[in-house]
Amino acid sequence: MAMQGSVLALGKCLACLEFMLFPVWRGIRASSGVAGGWSQGWGRCLRWEPDGPDQGARFPVFDYPIWLVLCRGGHATIREVCQRGRGVVRLPTEMLSIKLPQLFNIHQVPKVFREDSIISGYRHPRSSALDCVLSSFQMNNETVNIWTHFLPTWYFLWRFCVLCSTLNFLTDSYTWPLLVYMLLICIYPFTSSCAHTFSTMSPESRHICYFFDYGALSLYSLGCAISYGHYVMPDCWLSSWLHQHFVPIAVGNTLLCTGLSCYSRFLELQFPQRSKVLRTGAFIIPFIFDTIPLFYRIFLCCRGSCGPSDALSSHCYHVLFAFLTCFLFTAHLPERLAPGRFDYFGHSHQLFHVSAVVGTHFQMEGVIADMVSRRAWLLSHGAAPSFLGTVGAFAISLILNLGIIAVFSAPLLWKPRRGAGPPARECKEQ
Ligand SMILES: [Zn+2]
Repeated sequence: MAMQGSVLALGKCLACLEFMLFPVWRGIRASSGVAGGWSQGWGRCLRWEPDGPDQGARFPVFDYPIWLVLCRGGHATIREVCQRGRGVVRLPTEMLSIKLPQLFNIHQVPKVFREDSIISGYRHPRSSALDCVLSSFQMNNETVNIWTHFLPTWYFLWRFCVLCSTLNFLTDSYTWPLLVYMLLICIYPFTSSCAHTFSTMSPESRHICYFFDYGALSLYSLGCAISYGHYVMPDCWLSSWLHQHFVPIAVGNTLLCTGLSCYSRFLELQFPQRSKVLRTGAFIIPFIFDTIPLFYRIFLCCRGSCGPSDALSSHCYHVLFAFLTCFLFTAHLPERLAPGRFDYFGHSHQLFHVSAVVGTHFQMEGVIADMVSRRAWLLSHGAAPSFLGTVGAFAISLILNLGIIAVFSAPLLWKPRRGAGPPARECKEQ
């Protein structure tokens, strides 16, 4: 409460405070006999006093009740009380408020965490699991990577649920290749999203997170092979050697892909170029192999040996996006042209995620269209899928891929841990 020009002096009767906590001025009517003045005997202790030497008695006493009384030194006391009160009031606010983790630049994080041409927005290299989860709601150089694969997971899951309601995945063996494919297109973006979220808990966890990411991508290539081998194979290749061995070769490809891509991480710091070539090759091999039947169908169509097909146009879009995905993964554009400009938005890995997801969408449309339109023809030519060639191949590959990931993770998990201090302010070569 502002009391312009005047304050109340407390006098020298501090002992009174023991008994009367809150002095209340009832107004000047006390002098006219009406109940007024100070409450509970405070009149003995208090008197009106001018604020400054030149104020004199110009300021009259108030003629209305005053509940807040300023005494000598009262401003300081009230300020102190306010500070304490604010502390008490702030307590639950602090408990409820979420403190977002601090971000670092490229020179403050160990080399293993650095990304090509990404200068800022790095999370702490020893983040806790909670910090990692919170960081997905904070703008850093991984946030868009996380969400560009987390949201599509739900889109593919929704499409899978819709298919579950229209197809009989349990007893209709013709749908099993699609079942495996749909499972894997839900798993790979989800695993990638988790890998990007938890990759800054430690250097070891970063490697292990990306081992799982590569394993999921490699299994996705098996899902493509299983669906292509059963639904997309050109008519003239049905029951050929390639058709009969398509899925077993694809299983071998997944093992090669996971093994090479995991191994490439160990070369990353010493031989970055070799590591990149190895990792890119690891994913290109299964992609080229899986797409052979599709390339042949597109080739036949170019020669005029096929009619207009919705499936084929979707497949063509998928192939275009697949090449774009591969280009973005290897080129590191646009951030290589302007390092630091695309740290948060628009760097190649985000575009790579988006391109991969859009490509997968078209691939899914193409596979579903082929599955529906070619059903009668494929089944009449004895191309019914077997359990071993679909769900069995997926289960075997899953176990073997997890085994490869375990082999690469074991030395990292058993390695003696270094101190978990804050990141170095200087360039730290690790
Ligand atoms: Zn990624």
